[in-house]
This record gives sequence, C-alpha cells and structure tokens, in this order.
Amino acid sequence: MDSVKIAGTGPAGLSAAINLARQGYQVQVFEKNIDVGGRFHGEFQGLENWSDEEDALIQLKKMNICLNFDYHPFKNLSISNGEKIWNFKCNNPAFYLVKRGSVPGSLDNQLKVQAEDNGVIFHFNKYLPDDEADIIATGPVKQGKFAIAQGITFQTEMEDNVICLVNDKAALKGYSYLLVAQGQATMGTVLFCGFNKLNHCFLETKKTYENMLELDIKNPQKIGGIGSFSLHNNFKKNGKLYIGEAAGLQDLLWGFGINKAMKSGYLAARSIIKGEDYESNALKYFNNKLKASLVNRYLWEKFARNNYSIILNRIYNAPHHCKYLKEMHSFNLLQKIIYPFALRYMKSRYENLSL
Ligand SMILES: Cc1cc2nc3c(=O)[nH]c(=O)nc-3n(C[C@H](O)[C@H](O)[C@H](O)COP(=O)(O)OP(=O)(O)OC[C@H]3O[C@@H](n4cnc5c(N)ncnc54)[C@H](O)[C@@H]3O)c2cc1C
Repeated sequence: MDSVKIAGTGPAGLSAAINLARQGYQVQVFEKNIDVGGRFHGEFQGLENWSDEEDALIQLKKMNICLNFDYHPFKNLSISNGEKIWNFKCNNPAFYLVKRGSVPGSLDNQLKVQAEDNGVIFHFNKYLPDDEADIIATGPVKQGKFAIAQGITFQTEMEDNVICLVNDKAALKGYSYLLVAQGQATMGTVLFCGFNKLNHCFLETKKTYENMLELDIKNPQKIGGIGSFSLHNNFKKNGKLYIGEAAGLQDLLWGFGINKAMKSGYLAARSIIKGEDYESNALKYFNNKLKASLVNRYLWEKFARNNYSIILNRIYNAPHHCKYLKEMHSFNLLQKIIYPFALRYMKSRYENLSL
C-alpha cells in the first residue's frame, strides 16, 4: 500500500497522516466539516501528563510530532467540592493546556500545518464512509457514549488558573472545569450519568464559579460533545485500522483522550510502514490503561460520599500527588484484584457500552 486514505482530522488521524507522509506515502485525509478538529471551537483541553513515566511532550516528539502548537504547562490546580478547596502542586506539569479546533495555534491546526508540510492532501466538507477508508479516525461512536459535556469558551481578563469542581449538583458523577490561560478561558461541565440534566448542571457550574471568584466572560461561544469508550476495541476490522475514539480509546475516569488518539495514530502508521501488527501493539499499549480507568471510575463512584472529600483527601495526602495519579493508571495489583467486581458493576451501570 503506498497510498492511504484516512477518515477524520482529529489528533488520531493527523498523527497517522504525518507519520505516513514523512515516509513517502501518498496520504489523503477526509474531514466532514469545513476544517480540521471539526468538533471543536478553540476551547482549551488538557494534554494530561500524569499517567505515564515519560513527559507527554517528549512522547509526542518521539512520535515525530513537532511542538509547533501553543501549550501552557500547569503544575498547580485547585479542586473544590463546593465546600472546601484542595490545592494540588506537582513537581512537573500535571497537564498542558492546548486549544482544539481550527483556530491558529491550536493542536489540530498546527498538526494540519505539519501534515501539509509533509505533502498530505486534505479534502474538507467530505464525509468518507468506513468502507472507502484505510484508517478510520472519526472520533466518538454514539453507541459507546459514557460521558457528555457542555460549556463555553470565552475571552477574559482573569488570571491564568485551573479550578475543577467535583460536586453532583454541578456535574453528576463527573466534574466541572474552569481553565484560564493568557486571556482565553474555557468553562464546562462533564456528566457521567443523568445526561438530560446537562443544561441544568452547566447553569449550576456557572453559579458555583460565580460564588467562588469574579468571572469575566467576553464573547462566549458554546462548546460540548460526547466521549465514547470500549473494552472490546475494534482496532482492525475488514482490513481497516481504527484509531483514537473511533476505536473506543478513552479514559473512563475523566475522559482524557488526546494522548491515546495520537499514540494510536502513530502505532497504526508504523504498522503500515514497518509491517508491525497494529492490533497486538495497540492491545499491549492500551489494554491495561483502559482497564485501570474502568477500576478508577468504579472507585470514584463508590467513594463519592461526603461530596468526594474521601477521594480528594486520599489523593491530597499522598506524598506526591502526581506519582499517586500515575500509580492509579498503572493497573496495579490492587486494581487487578478489584477489576472483576468493577467490571460487573460497570456492565450494569453502562448497559450500552461494550465492556
Ligand atoms: C467537550 C470535550 C472536552 C474534552 N476535553 C478533553 C481534555 O481536556 N483532554 C483530553 O485528552 N481529551 C479531552 N476530550 C476528548 C478528546 O477531545 C478526544 O478524545 C479526542 O479529540 C479524540 O481524537 P480523535 O482524533 O479520535 O477524534 P476527534 O478529535 O473527534 O476527530 C474526529 C474527526 O473526524 C471527523 N469525522 C467524523 N466522521 C467522519 C467521516 N466519516 N468522514 C470524514 N470526517 C469524519 C470529525 O468531524 C472530527 O473532526 C474532550 C472531549 C470533549 C467533547
């Protein structure tokens, strides 16, 4: 195969496209929207940096991705349950804020620049059916929906800050977030159940933040979407490679999918370039992470009592918060023991998911 067709221009599709084009493949990428990152509107998302030993940006460089996009490292973040605030400080960035969508400097836009520099051809406003694609990077699948988000992105004069809210009034079984960096901000709520309460929860989120600090919101634009997860990942079907959220790669605890999307794009490209087995490499890399995230969500919901203060105290009192978070994502011995119970619970909790 020396020409490759990819459906979808999120981080998964673009990471695959860049790697293939660098090796001389003729790559065509199709996007059903008018530009890359079609689901997003310039809002901030976090490139999480707590689940792996190696820094997320170094991992990207090793995947042949240049750091030509804007990113804001955050070592500190505050989490409130509406009654108390926990201020977490890490030695290294806990995450890097990046913009999503087609705005200048965003992750998606700058990956497009890298892809174009390597000769990738883009077709916008073009829906590519699965049977015409070699790589399917089309993002979340409705049947695998486990979380739903709503919010706004806006300009502001507030200081750079990250404040999360865990409180079932503002975000049922989930969390709300306010991310501010260099005059741009994103506020949102993510629910993991009671999806019909999304509007109400977002209003509650806004009210809670208004009580905590002086909000300055200019030119708000609505954002939102879904996340999808699967344990029976279709990495390969009918000769097609599935990557990113199209393969169900997500974090069931908090919904961080960018790192997994880019890694899976890289692994799929390598399988074409070097003849490696994508399915077995992807399983090796992702399976334990997905299982750990399932156990983490089970524990999160089980110990939600006292407005999540039990869990927050546990993480806060760990000598190194970030190390503790890393351990939580490693599918350690305790998680392996809990896994069968967690799986049974999650199967009845999320009947639609392929678990
Ligand atoms: C509100 C919200 C906040 C989030 N925050 C975070 C966060 O802070 N950190 C994090 O890591 N993750 C976050 N996520 C998840 C993250 O955005 C996704 O996991 C990630 O974008 C998945 O990348 P992807 O390339 O698989 O899919 P996507 O980024 O969804 O890209 C898929 C693309 O394919 C296009 N497409 C779909 N079907 C076709 C077709 N047939 N033909 C052509 N084009 C098609 C779509 O328009 C889209 O542009 C968030 C998600 C949402 C909704």
